[in-house]
Amino acid sequence: KRVSREFKELDTIVEVGGVPIGGQGIAIIAGPCTVESREQTFNVAQAVRAAGAVILRGGAYKPRTSPYSFHGLGEAGLQILAEARALTGLPVVTEVMDTETLPLVLEYADMLQIGARNMQNYSLLRAVGRTQRPVLLKRGFAATVKDLLLAAEYILAEGNPNVVLCERGIRTFDDSLRFTLDLGAVPLIKQLSHLPVIVDPSHASGRADLVIPMARAALAAGADGLIVEVHDNPAYAVCDGTQSLVPDSFAGMMRQLARIAAAI
Ligand code: PEP
Ligand code: MN
Repeated sequence: KRVSREFKELDTIVEVGGVPIGGQGIAIIAGPCTVESREQTFNVAQAVRAAGAVILRGGAYKPRTSPYSFHGLGEAGLQILAEARALTGLPVVTEVMDTETLPLVLEYADMLQIGARNMQNYSLLRAVGRTQRPVLLKRGFAATVKDLLLAAEYILAEGNPNVVLCERGIRTFDDSLRFTLDLGAVPLIKQLSHLPVIVDPSHASGRADLVIPMARAALAAGADGLIVEVHDNPAYAVCDGTQSLVPDSFAGMMRQLARIAAAI
């Protein structure tokens, strides 16, 4: 299989708007769960950039558990992300939820995020595979490591080698946290595959106070990077406020991570 180490021995490095993910360095992606407004997105984008993030995240199309929740600003959100990129120089990653909106998202995104709920949406995987745009493929919360690798295979098989995998927590018997971060998957996937692996400590825990320790553990386990939710006013966030770091905590996390990265 194309995802396997046997197929390709050297680590794949995925370039996102000039920023490498995989290989030697650590890439930190950060930003709000959802693009809510220009002001919010610009505030967060400038803060995370100042703290050392290299890619901006933000959802314009949000997969929500309830059909009555806020589902994102759509194209207006994509436009705000493009303005934030122009302002900060950070490339942007944003979720594409279906093949219908893929052409529009391709006009704005440097990297296409496929969310946990869409990991096995095979027509979407094939469609992003027919582009050369970098893809951030998040593990489904009921997916095994093998399922994740085979989902990535769909993208590679169509001719797009630019895939980054993301461990973001799975459902287990333990409901103490939002999900259970499967950190063993990180070194395991790195043995089985040449693709870069990053960790999302925000969705995995659902709690801002646990994001930083889990981020430290992820780097120690060998992750090639992290994707972290940051909000300038989490109490008023439209989505995922409880797990969002404020800019000061994010900057503190980055200082800790620099020490861990230097030690490994
Ligand atoms: C997100 O990154 O905001 C998100 C919805 O993540 P996941 O698909 O992992 O739940
Ligand atoms: Mn979120």
